[in-house]
Amino acid sequence: MSFETRAMVCAHHHLYSSLARGMPAPKTAPDSFISVLENIWWKLDMALDLETLYWSAALGAAEALCSGTTAIIDHHESPLVIDGSLDVIADACAMVGVKANLSYGITDRWDNNALHSRVSPLSPMTDAAQQGLRENERFLASGGRGMVGVHAAFTCSDETLHSASELARKFDTGVHIHVAEGPDDKDAGARLEKLADKNWLLVHAVHLDRHLEGTIVHNPRSNMNNAVGYAHPTRFTNDIALGTDGIGADMLEEARLAYVRLRESDISSTPETVWGWLHTSEKYFPEIVNDTVTWSYDMSDSPWHAAFTPGIRCVDVVVAGNTVVKDGIPTQFDMAEIRAKAAQAAKKLHKKLI
Ligand SMILES: [Zn+2]
Repeated sequence: MSFETRAMVCAHHHLYSSLARGMPAPKTAPDSFISVLENIWWKLDMALDLETLYWSAALGAAEALCSGTTAIIDHHESPLVIDGSLDVIADACAMVGVKANLSYGITDRWDNNALHSRVSPLSPMTDAAQQGLRENERFLASGGRGMVGVHAAFTCSDETLHSASELARKFDTGVHIHVAEGPDDKDAGARLEKLADKNWLLVHAVHLDRHLEGTIVHNPRSNMNNAVGYAHPTRFTNDIALGTDGIGADMLEEARLAYVRLRESDISSTPETVWGWLHTSEKYFPEIVNDTVTWSYDMSDSPWHAAFTPGIRCVDVVVAGNTVVKDGIPTQFDMAEIRAKAAQAAKKLHKKLI
């Protein structure tokens, strides 16, 4: 009853966040999207060092592979260890055998170590943003596969957004940016309208008020978790891809959730729409055509099987002819060792957050 498909791509991940599970509760309980950023994610990314980042990325990539996801488009931030951070993630992904497209999310929200949750469009580009831009440039110039990362328009000046767009153009790649994820970024459409290009990745687009050039990355689980609302991605004509926004990389599960979220807003929609979204980001990894996944259940008759059959799991994964997962167990690395090293790193990371 097993069934083979092409391997999956996660179109938006944050491998730096794999060790967040089990972190100490924030001192202030978040009551809004911006407060989730301030009290959880912007504290976690400040606590990272290169060693914890490596094991966080290794764990996230290993779990992705075991879910049938052999390629990840990652968006990274570690404000205290920017230089070389993309190489650390690339090394972790290579160790596990997952293809990666990496970017460093530049932002002006840190200025002289003070946090500014919203940045004026007219303010000058900060040193921190310049350092992030240099990390993107260094990685791309060294031959790394990636894009130019930007956190979001509302934490960047116009000068920073413009510089990111120019750098992406120079390397013939796109900008990977969170767009109107929450109401705090509702001006993103107006500010990015003249900059966005076909090769940009527009992540979330929940509160986007106009058409922007690029591929929209829909992250239904994360949007629900952050209570930012439903993105209604089909209201735009853009290509749509599926991401997890750092909550694992089980793309079959994300697609199942995307289907019911779509159906909740439109009773006439079918799973075919969402299954199509799973293939959109293959264009970033042409070699994915050589990767296959064998699933525990035969879904070949109809996409409705995948939408309504619980517990379908990835059994085998083959990457370019090599079986890298056999009966659910990775063959190229020791999952128990990665989990143990990641647990040690998590302990160190969580101590900094108390
Ligand atoms: Zn994200």
